[in-house]
Amino acid sequence: MTHPDVAVVGAGIGGLTAAVALARRGARCVVFERHPCLPEDGAGIQVSPNAAAELYRLGLEDAFATAIRPAGREIRRWRDDTVLSRVDLTRHEVPYFTMRRADLVRALLEAVRRTQGPDAVRFGRRCVGVWDEGSRVLVGFDDHTATAAGLVIGADGLRSAVAGAFRPEPPRYSGHVACRAVLPIEAAGGPAGPDRVVAWLGPRRHCVAYPIDRGRQLNLVVTTPAPHPTGPAETVGAADLLCQYRGWHPAVRGLIGAARRLGRYPLYDRPPTPDPWRGRVVLIGDAAHPMLPFLAQGAAQAIEDAVAVADCLDRPDAPARYAATRLPRVRRVTEASHAGLHAYHLPDGPEQQRRDRAMAVAAPAALDWLYGRPAPV
Ligand SMILES: Cc1cc2nc3c(=O)[nH]c(=O)nc-3n(C[C@H](O)[C@H](O)[C@H](O)COP(=O)(O)OP(=O)(O)OC[C@H]3O[C@@H](n4cnc5c(N)ncnc54)[C@H](O)[C@@H]3O)c2cc1C
Repeated sequence: MTHPDVAVVGAGIGGLTAAVALARRGARCVVFERHPCLPEDGAGIQVSPNAAAELYRLGLEDAFATAIRPAGREIRRWRDDTVLSRVDLTRHEVPYFTMRRADLVRALLEAVRRTQGPDAVRFGRRCVGVWDEGSRVLVGFDDHTATAAGLVIGADGLRSAVAGAFRPEPPRYSGHVACRAVLPIEAAGGPAGPDRVVAWLGPRRHCVAYPIDRGRQLNLVVTTPAPHPTGPAETVGAADLLCQYRGWHPAVRGLIGAARRLGRYPLYDRPPTPDPWRGRVVLIGDAAHPMLPFLAQGAAQAIEDAVAVADCLDRPDAPARYAATRLPRVRRVTEASHAGLHAYHLPDGPEQQRRDRAMAVAAPAALDWLYGRPAPV
């Protein structure tokens, strides 16, 4: 079967995974990325077994060379650090990983160059729109040039230029920002450490810490309300955050204090695009379904999408197949992530006590629907 030439817009985790998955199906592609090179983002990422399994299927086990396999996830209470629940992260066939995001992206980029050719990723190419002409699709760039392709994969994230052709609803601002920093592991007093993911839940806020970089560093994510997505700066000082985390346990305050300055990321989501593959254009990842990071699934779902697009390529009913396979799942994950906005941030009271009791007795298999392999196309 001859495949159309594919243009992938965006060299994030979704776009790069798509390029590798396409190569495995014998399809050639070029990836266009607006940045002049890959950003050296030192922050961490959790790669859950459902996503890791897809990367294993693509032969990318080496991507996890510097990753940690945490034994479990602990949910703790904000004020007194008591454990509300412990989740065993070792019960899945493929590990749950935590790692530097840049290590994953670099491994994917190398895999694209190996499988699609050394020039397959073109940096400094900002897409401004796509025009589906029926027999081909044009990708336009900000330097007034255009390229033709048989299929465009829009993997260009939350503010996707490709998704503009689908007229999506604007992303919804959640009223919260996530502040991120990476600390030396020695800064991790208290329960945070090299073998677990820890999340503290409290009124209108929560905080997550997990090990990365072979256990040498700790990734810290501090979520806090903010009426406006924009702030005075793209970073925030630990002192400002500590004011917001007054009354929280010293284990949490100590981590925030050790961070000094944290990157500030406004959190958005949107209901998934109902028909993510139209004609010669398909959306994956945040371009199709930006979600809140409360289940740590945005990149994982982008990876699942990327593999599903490649698996659909040979099918005459590819658009319908892709939507039927992916939409029920991304809807469920987006909704569950959105629910975290309320459930994680409950003020102390009867509803919080009910939540804590439910967490304490949750079955080990409660997240198998998420961490298990997604339905094949
Ligand atoms: C605080 C926080 C923590 C998170 N933690 C996790 C986690 O632990 N696990 C997890 O699975 N997910 C996590 N996520 C979600 C995850 O980061 C995103 O869902 C994921 O990066 C989406 O991948 P993507 O490839 O779809 O888009 P992106 O990562 O946004 O990549 C899009 C790429 O397209 C490029 N681009 C954009 N516009 C254009 C254009 N016009 N032309 C050309 N190129 C363009 C961008 O430069 C970028 O390289 C987290 C998110 C946040 C905010």
